[in-house]
Amino acid sequence: MYKIPLNSQGWKKERPVVVILSGAGLSAESGIPTYRDPQSNWKTTNAFDAEEAKRNPQLFLRETNERIREWKDAKPNAAHSAIADFTRRLRDRASILHITQNIDALSEDAGDTSVFHLHGSILKSRCQHCGAHFPRLAPYSLEDVCPACGKSDGAVRPDIVLFGDVPYGMDWIPGVIRQADIFIAVGTSLLVYPAAWFVVEAMEHGCLDRILITKDLPDELFTDPGHIDLDEADSLFEYTKFFRGSAARILPQVLEGIAWEIESRLSPKLLP
Ligand SMILES: [Zn+2]
Repeated sequence: MYKIPLNSQGWKKERPVVVILSGAGLSAESGIPTYRDPQSNWKTTNAFDAEEAKRNPQLFLRETNERIREWKDAKPNAAHSAIADFTRRLRDRASILHITQNIDALSEDAGDTSVFHLHGSILKSRCQHCGAHFPRLAPYSLEDVCPACGKSDGAVRPDIVLFGDVPYGMDWIPGVIRQADIFIAVGTSLLVYPAAWFVVEAMEHGCLDRILITKDLPDELFTDPGHIDLDEADSLFEYTKFFRGSAARILPQVLEGIAWEIESRLSPKLLP
């Protein structure tokens, strides 16, 4: 078994707090393209820009329906399952929060009960008129009627955070980050805020284990971090441990190692 030596000798509170931040790299191996993927059509349309969606709601709804269709056969990969297993295994021994930047439903499909969607989810709808949140009931159209207030004409929209919108959970996520004993970032761009800021917040509040798993780090980093352009990647150096490789390959091993470490530190009488 792969062991992860941790820097922290104890936890801030009785139970360890583990925060996992995931990005598009988590779902990449399930066939959902990352924002930076040249095959991705995220950037070939501005339908997901908040201003543009206001100007052209029809395009926004059509493009969302298109994603839902494209993704319908995608299956969770080993990384989604690893988070689900980790959460189940440690449910009574640790506080675990998985914050994802992804809007797909693969974490839910894998049985992950710790997931929170920073950018919303294609599983949910929101009414622009009354603010009600409810499950997605069908493919989107301008004629959809809000089940809470009865408005239509574009009132019902996908509950996803668009470019230019404020991410969800920013009123409470920082409070959890500050309590974190272990912070893991996986498959996320280091440059996207507020996600990039979370690790700094964790570090400044005494989180001693800050782990980064990503495919996209250049070779130089592993021999001479000085080659990295600090302007573009300075938050990189807020991490205490790096793993390069796909989320599906690395994350299961890392979480297994951390689960083992947490369990072995608990009083033996708590162990089965
Ligand atoms: Zn409504």
